Amino acid sequence: MSTSTNRDKVIQTLQMLHKELSAQELYMELRNQKKGIGLATVYRILKSLKLEGLIQERLTPVGESFYSLITPSHSHHLNCLGCGKVIPLDICPLNKTISQISKSENFKIFYHTIELFGLCILCQSDSHSCGNLHQPRMSRPEYQNEEHHH
Ligand SMILES: [Zn+2]
Ligand SMILES: [Zn+2]
Repeated sequence: MSTSTNRDKVIQTLQMLHKELSAQELYMELRNQKKGIGLATVYRILKSLKLEGLIQERLTPVGESFYSLITPSHSHHLNCLGCGKVIPLDICPLNKTISQISKSENFKIFYHTIELFGLCILCQSDSHSCGNLHQPRMSRPEYQNEEHHH
């Protein structure tokens, strides 16, 4: 009965806060707004919004999902393996390629993700430990990984 309004509440909250939220955070936020929706309903709404191409999901290395509205401008992140710092990138290296793939494969692409992993400028320097002494670093200058989810 109130599925569409609950759906609107979720979209509005993501719009209003203008950032990535986990299902749990979304649930807490809606509860703070006195717009209580059960956590199971939040998950169900997130799933259907995902299939409609309205939101995207980002899975963090610790296995937590974050959801945000899909906007024409989006960002990618540099993840430092040394100190765990996340640096947003304001360019998308793939925008053009993706519209070409969409045409050639006849696949409707809603969004894409690329996570870049390596070491930040502080962690590249041996004089800085980044406060991460318990995790010895190998002599591995750079580690890069690209991942795409469709
Ligand atoms: Zn670092
Ligand atoms: Zn991109």
